[in-house]
Amino acid sequence: MRLLIVEDEPALAQNLKKILETKGFATDWLSDGEKARNRILMYHKEYDAIILDLGLPNLDGVALTTMLRAEGIKTPIVIVTGRSETKDKVTLLNAGADDYVVKPFSPAELVARIESVLRRPSAAINVVHTVGDITIDTAAHRMTVAGVEVPLTLKEYSLLECFLRRPGEVFTREELCNQVWDFDAMTLSNVLDVHMKNLRKKLQVPGNNTRFETVRGVGYRFVVPAAIH
Ligand code: CA
Repeated sequence: MRLLIVEDEPALAQNLKKILETKGFATDWLSDGEKARNRILMYHKEYDAIILDLGLPNLDGVALTTMLRAEGIKTPIVIVTGRSETKDKVTLLNAGADDYVVKPFSPAELVARIESVLRRPSAAINVVHTVGDITIDTAAHRMTVAGVEVPLTLKEYSLLECFLRRPGEVFTREELCNQVWDFDAMTLSNVLDVHMKNLRKKLQVPGNNTRFETVRGVGYRFVVPAAIH
């Protein structure tokens, strides 16, 4: 799952990134309200949720939320706010935010709020997603292969989720690294191959017809035999 963090305090933003990445989320960070608006208008389908600071340069969190909802963008928004008055909470929810956390908050609280909005039916991705013989539970990060539950690491899960969103399509190595690690793709090339090798092993369950194909010089694709013909 990929999150957009919009936060103008670099130290807090870095801290949020670190917390969320250890929980298996890929994250992007922007510090300006207007830049966030432009990014979200163009790329909202890339994000499962937006973590939005209230006080931002150029466009504040409430104005941004109101504008996105008016545009019909339904990506879940969790607001991070320094204000704690009831009136403000109502304003946030009325503007179209899904939830909020009040600073200072614990990492566990923020993660719980994010996971809670992602579980709601309005969230962009189904909680249970089936492609061929593979079923994933996007809230619990569980996978079953031909009816058998196979444990995954968080990174393996994130990789698999990319493929299941677009079965049959080729993902470049760079795309996969960016989706899952959010670092410079080139430094992670070997790490990607190791994870793909492990994922392939985990799909080796009797009765499973799906598989990963290596596309030489490009990347990988997830193949569901029934979907090809
Ligand atoms: Ca701020």
